[in-house]
Parts: sequence; C-alpha cells; structure tokens
Amino acid sequence: MEKFDLLVIGGGPGGYVAAISAAQNGLKVACIDKRKSLGGTCLNVGCIPSKRLLHSSKLYKEIINDSIQHGIQIKKPTFDLLKMMEGKNNTVEKLTKGIEHLFKKNNIKRIIGHASFDNDKMVKVDDNKFSAENIIIATGSRPSELKNIKIDEKYIVSSTGALNFEKIPKKLAIIGAGYIGLELGSVWSRLGADVTVIEYGNSIVPTMDADISNNFFKELQKQGINFMLESEVISANVSKNKVFLNIKSMENNLEDKIIFDKALLAVGRTPTTNGLGLDNLNIGVNSKGYIEVNQFYETSCKGIYAIGDVIEGPMLAHKASAEAEAVVDIITGRNGQVNYNAIPAVVYTSPEVAWVGKTKQELDKYNINYKEGKFLFSANSRSKVTGNSSGMVKVYSHIDSNKILGAHIMGEHAGELIGEFVVSIEMGASAEDIALICHAHPTLSESIKEAASIASYGKTIHS
Ligand code: FAD
Repeated sequence: MEKFDLLVIGGGPGGYVAAISAAQNGLKVACIDKRKSLGGTCLNVGCIPSKRLLHSSKLYKEIINDSIQHGIQIKKPTFDLLKMMEGKNNTVEKLTKGIEHLFKKNNIKRIIGHASFDNDKMVKVDDNKFSAENIIIATGSRPSELKNIKIDEKYIVSSTGALNFEKIPKKLAIIGAGYIGLELGSVWSRLGADVTVIEYGNSIVPTMDADISNNFFKELQKQGINFMLESEVISANVSKNKVFLNIKSMENNLEDKIIFDKALLAVGRTPTTNGLGLDNLNIGVNSKGYIEVNQFYETSCKGIYAIGDVIEGPMLAHKASAEAEAVVDIITGRNGQVNYNAIPAVVYTSPEVAWVGKTKQELDKYNINYKEGKFLFSANSRSKVTGNSSGMVKVYSHIDSNKILGAHIMGEHAGELIGEFVVSIEMGASAEDIALICHAHPTLSESIKEAASIASYGKTIHS
C-alpha cells in the first residue's frame, strides 16, 4: 500500500490546484479522479468548452451584425458546426494535457478511478488502497435534476449535452435562467436556434444586482431570446424526436403545451458526495448536500478537508482554486484564508455581466447605508469607437467611509474590467481612490473612474 502526505480526491480546479500547491510545498501527493483527463468539470465540460463556443458564436454574430458598420463587406458568412466543435475539443485537450504536464513536473501521482474512504486515513480505488495523513475532498458537483424532467442527453440534455449538439436545434428550451442556461442559450441562439428560456422566478440570474439584471434581460430579449418568467415546467415528454413541455404560468395559472427540438435543463448544480463512503466516517453533509467544514476547511473528521463546489459558497472555478491554495497553506502550517467578499462572478454573454461584493438587494437587506455611482458606456469614447455601447458600470460605496462595497459591470469585457474592483475591495480602497487614478484613454476602464467619481463627488466629467 502506497503512503502519501496528501491525497486529493478530484482533479478539478479545486483538486488539481491543491495537488500542485502541496507538491510545490514539499509534500508527497497523489490526486485521484475518475475522469481520464484532468481539470474536472471546468476544463472538460464547463468553463472552457462553453467559453470557446461562446467565443466562436460571438465572432460569427459580429461578422454578420457589425462588419458592415466598419465598411467591411462579407457576402454571406456561414459556419461549420463540426469545425467549431473540433476547435472546442482541441482547446479542452490542450488545457487538460497542460495540467497533466504540471502534474509530471511536480511529481504528483495520478490515480484514475472512483475513490471511496476505507477509513479516515485510507482511500480505496478499485482493489488498491492508498493512505495519507491528510486528505482533501474536491469532488465538485453535477447538474441538478428535477423529478418530472428526466435528462436523456439526447433530447433533454444537461449542460454537457448542450455543449455537444450535432446540429442546431430549430427550437431550444432552456429550463432555468441562471448563468449556465443563458450562456448556452446565447451560443445556440447566435447560431440560429429559436431559444426560449423558462424560469420559475420573476427575474434572470437572481444573484445579480437587480438593476443590472433588468437591463441584461432587455438586452437578451433584443437579441431574440424569448423568456417565460414566473413559469414552471410541470412535465416533459419525448416523443417522435420532439420534446413536449407542459408549462404553467404562475401569473394566471394557465398551462401551455410547447413543442421543442431539444430542452436544456439548467436549474443549478448538486454537490457530488455519492459513493465516497462519508457515512462510515460521520462526515457531516448539510440539508442541501454540501459537506460541512469549519473555517479551516476541515470536516468533522480530523485531517479530512473539503473545498470547491462540494462545500457551500458560489460554485465557481476560481473560488475552488482559492480554497485549494488556502487549505494547503493551512495543512502546511501557514495562515490560509479566502476573502469571500472579493470573489468575482462573470456571465460571458453579450453583453458580459460581472460583479464583485454586495448587490443593491443585499445592502438594503442588511441596512447598510451606501452611495451609488453609475456611468453608462454610451458616454465612454472607447465604446463609441467599437460600436458596443450598451451597458454600464455601477459602484456602491459606504456612506461614511466611501469604501467600495460592491461593483457591477454590464458591457463588453466586463469580466476583465471587474478585476480593478476586485483588487480595490481586497485592498480596502475607497471609491475616491479609484476616482483619483489616471486611467488610459480611450479605454472602457475610464468608465470605472467615472462611476467612482460620481459615488465620491456626485459628479464626473463626462455625464
Ligand atoms: P469539479 O471541477 O467538478 O471537479 C471534481 C472532479 O472530481 C471531477 O473531475 C470528478 O470526476 C471527480 N470526482 C468526483 N467524485 C469522485 C470520486 N468519488 N472519485 C474520483 N473522482 C471523483 N465556473 C467559473 O468560475 N467560470 C465559468 O465560466 C464557469 N462556466 C461553467 C460552465 C458550465 C457549463 C459548467 C457546468 C460549469 C461552469 N463553471 C464555471 C463552474 C465550474 O466548472 C465549477 O465551479 C468548478 O469546476 C468546481 O471545481 P471543483 O474542483 O470543486 O470540482
């Protein structure tokens, strides 16, 4: 039986980062994943393939919609879905192989197979047993299912199926208006599908700032995506290559039967703990299925830790990786922590939406008094140059200290721009600190300075 300092179960952005960080800190490490390729959900069937398809489809749409205003004439652009998918698969392969290379470089043993606990210091994979002083569970999550909607990955698909359609569905239903549904809905809508998003709640992406969410909703509608809010899919049946959805409106209690070619069930993700043998060790799992940990990411069992999607918190790759580095610091006797108030979130649609810190709803809920600075991209010179001027930057700062409490951006490159606010929150900066920084011209980032200026002084030069 092989013995290690650290065993990591799961090779996603939580697990692989923990394994590399621990090895770099001198530990003898093994990482177990049942997938043949490393990188977990994120690299194989999540962040990376979805962003590649979003990029390819955006390029196609831009050529159709925007080239003419720049004096570029292209006859009738067409696309080859097979080639698009090949491009996506190649990107995934390069990145997963990259992690494999990093594992070799750092002498990390890779074990392929399903892991389960034999005891608190030992893990079984098939007939083999491995022991370690410390074990990290980073088993991630899987798509949530609903009792009345069965995923077959052919007609009713999860996000994994929706990353692999062989042809464009004429009519595509997206059940759930979270970021995964909206991103994949955007991909297929841009490529020609008639997309309808069916959402139980009365808004899209409920964790988003309400004002931004309303504007975002209107932008997506303008692109031709249909929405049925406050609507519930009460049954889904597949017959004659079609998906029959029975949809009930909460507003008037009326039911509608709509036929689609495909339906994507995107109602969230469930932590993966099945088959791990947690019960034998008395490791606590809460009512939502997340493994319970203390502030050191340690479970109720000493020396066994959990990080990433399998514990509470935003289910995001960078949150998993941040926890991975923190837990390795803790295991190796240093001070590891994550600032959960400075974890950005990005929706990679057009426009992009990105945020960090508190939303308006949260500030109101916790009775925090704040100032608001809002600057529209329509008044930003770089937006005028590119022709993409929809969206805004919003910043909330504390009424007394002017410290930044939250920031929300909707528009081109929002996911890149949000970094300035992440650093500001992490450093405890005030909105005035940002307002006084010289930002390059002409850039979208000038809108950040202008929004911060409005929050600080109630005015800015360009509005
Ligand atoms: P995972 O990446 O899920 O990895 C867990 C690994 O553990 C898996 O490889 C699994 O095979 C393995 N495993 C599970 N149980 C066992 C077992 N018993 N034995 C052995 N191996 C096991 N996040 C972002 O931050 N940005 C994005 O743009 C983004 N886009 C996304 C798009 C889609 C379509 C999806 C589905 C997700 C997206 N996410 C995104 C979320 C992101 O993928 C997850 O938050 C992230 O992968 C979580 O990392 P993790 O390491 O906790 O778990």
